[in-house]
Amino acid sequence: MRIVFLGPPGAGKGTQARELARAWGVPHLATGDMLRSAAAAGTPLGLEAKRYMDEGALVPDEVIIGLMRERLGAPDAAKGFIVDGFPRTIAQAEALDKVLVETGQALGAVVFFDVSEAELLRRLTGRRVCRRCQATYHLVSAPPAKAGVCDKCGGELYQRVDDGEETVRNRLGVYGRQTAPLLDYYREQGLLRTVRGEGPIDGIRRAIREAAGDAR
Ligand code: AMP
Repeated sequence: MRIVFLGPPGAGKGTQARELARAWGVPHLATGDMLRSAAAAGTPLGLEAKRYMDEGALVPDEVIIGLMRERLGAPDAAKGFIVDGFPRTIAQAEALDKVLVETGQALGAVVFFDVSEAELLRRLTGRRVCRRCQATYHLVSAPPAKAGVCDKCGGELYQRVDDGEETVRNRLGVYGRQTAPLLDYYREQGLLRTVRGEGPIDGIRRAIREAAGDAR
């Protein structure tokens, strides 16, 4: 399983990737999670990235490509992976292709999560995330049993700085300009599979499994 999850912020890529990576026994490589933990740890890379992230802008390609090149070379990624939030530009997609060629690997599918803009705005501005396990909730449609506390691990829930309405609009604009062109890039490679990312989570998961060639 070498799968890319592609789609706008708030499309549900992380939620589905966490579950499916566990089911498939492969690592979930989420550049956003990697950058947020680097920022929380206060590393130079994390602090530099945070300036871009807080504004909803993309972190420069060189930084992300270096980070992913290293991560994809780790032993656990040799058996497969789900990448979530990468690539986000054509330059990143070309760099990913190059790394895969160098290591004799190939992508199995690129799954595109199709979600309307109104739904993305609703999801992102109401989203709360667990600081400890990254599980996500929604204030209205998927609240935790106890306000502010993660059902799964008891961790503290917080709102991402970049989930404020103005920054969300900026992120959606950046997605349209810089990331949406990847749809054609992967369509031309014959790898693109579109899944409708609205409706019950289980139904979406089944559609993703099918798109990824997992018949179970
Ligand atoms: P995400 O958690 O995927 O929504 O990513 C949060 C933020 O991290 C983005 O708004 C970007 O600032 C940064 N980021 C994550 N992945 C990438 C990437 N592949 N290229 C550039 N910036 C990224």
